[in-house]
Amino acid sequence: MITIKLALIVSNILFSSQGTRANRRYIHAGVQYQPSQITVCCFAGGVVLEGSENRWQENQLLAALPEKERSRLIPQLEILTLFAKETLYEAADELNYVYFPLDCIVVLISSVESKATVEVGLIGNEGLVGAPILMGAKHSTNQALILTEGKALRLPAAAIRKEAKRSSRMREIILNYANALMAQSAQLAACHRYHTPQARLARLLLMIDDRMQSPELRVTQDLLASLLGTRRATVTEAARQIQNSQLIQSVRGRIRLLDRKGLEKAACSCYAIISSQQLETKARPEIS
Ligand SMILES: [Zn+2]
Repeated sequence: MITIKLALIVSNILFSSQGTRANRRYIHAGVQYQPSQITVCCFAGGVVLEGSENRWQENQLLAALPEKERSRLIPQLEILTLFAKETLYEAADELNYVYFPLDCIVVLISSVESKATVEVGLIGNEGLVGAPILMGAKHSTNQALILTEGKALRLPAAAIRKEAKRSSRMREIILNYANALMAQSAQLAACHRYHTPQARLARLLLMIDDRMQSPELRVTQDLLASLLGTRRATVTEAARQIQNSQLIQSVRGRIRLLDRKGLEKAACSCYAIISSQQLETKARPEIS
């Protein structure tokens, strides 16, 4: 609470000193949250605009809500800058917020005895982090890690529960997405058991590319190994094979896709299955 008040004070000082409220140009307050170390860049109070654009439109679930529901939500949203490798939730953490990614990517990671890890879900601006809140969950079952930095909108758990009770359309949108995410997790479980490291790496790179706003992915092979549940040397070899086929360029932790169609051929069938499931349940604006 003290942090929130401090952020509002800092934010107000910045607004008033810059005189920018009128032209909708907001300043990063630079307030650090604990424990997830999220930098708050501007505070709610009806503010979800940055620059001259409506940032909420960049999240497909929020954009699909009817105007009435959306206008109730907007004053309750905070816009945050999330940095790569930061954690939104650890497994067993209390689920206090849902996060709607705008241009960041979040990966859900499951771990065994705090050692072996594997990806169980990838979330970009097509979805949200924390959907189990609407199914009665109080605690996270996975770690939610920021894979690529960017912005997200945050809403308290109590607020999303309240709004979902009032709006059947909101419940439908979020539960549809939660269903797609569960289907993705189930497919990934089979993928990690039966498909080769090379095919899984190609599938993962395509899934990241689908959600990425920039042409280049910055990710270490250590992190890729922990997402694929394999050794680093295995990922290095898989990346080398894919690179030798001229499908990607991988240089010092930077990966660029050179031949997307070729990468789709190299990926396991899970990529097409997950993509079609996502498309099937994609939130669309309600037609009245
Ligand atoms: Zn697979």
